[in-house]
Amino acid sequence: MKPIVAIVGRPNVGKSMLFNKLIGKRLSIVEDTPGVTRDRIYGETDWNGRSFILVDTGGIEPRTDDQILSFMRDQAQIAIENATVIIFLTDVRTGLTASDQEVANMLLRSGKPIVLAVNKMDSTGAPDPDFYEFYNLGLGDPIAVSAVHGHGTGDLLDACLQYF
Ligand code: GDP
Ligand code: MG
Repeated sequence: MKPIVAIVGRPNVGKSMLFNKLIGKRLSIVEDTPGVTRDRIYGETDWNGRSFILVDTGGIEPRTDDQILSFMRDQAQIAIENATVIIFLTDVRTGLTASDQEVANMLLRSGKPIVLAVNKMDSTGAPDPDFYEFYNLGLGDPIAVSAVHGHGTGDLLDACLQYF
């Protein structure tokens, strides 16, 4: 069985964009509004000679806050049960949200290896001050990534590979 790396996070943080960047193909649909990733999308890729299965857990994402939280709980639970490592993806543009905190707590309690990534860090200059608030999640040092440009994705995969 190949290791499974699942990308979990709120709608619109860039899960599908990151998935496509890491897979090197556009398998998953990226949209400006949440709710368009058709299904859970799987792809196989490799890093440093290790192959693994990457999962975009987006699915059909809801729009109301209440639904988003319960949807995220379900997605996180499935990832907890099936993944070898979970990438918890957040968005520096919206900053840390209550639902990020809630899902982070759930992931933390599971004892699964979690790699925290902060997406949309597009500039390579000084980090956005909002980046530092993600330390408050208690998931360790956040890794700055830009799914659009690919910045930080090597560090992200290095962090995942240490668990398999
Ligand atoms: P998902 O709902 O988590 O799958 O998010 P998507 O991958 O569909 O992306 C949501 C929006 O964020 C789209 O408008 C993307 O173009 C945008 N986006 C994703 N990654 C980045 C990034 O690294 N930088 C910027 N500036 N925008 C991004
Ligand atoms: Mg998506």
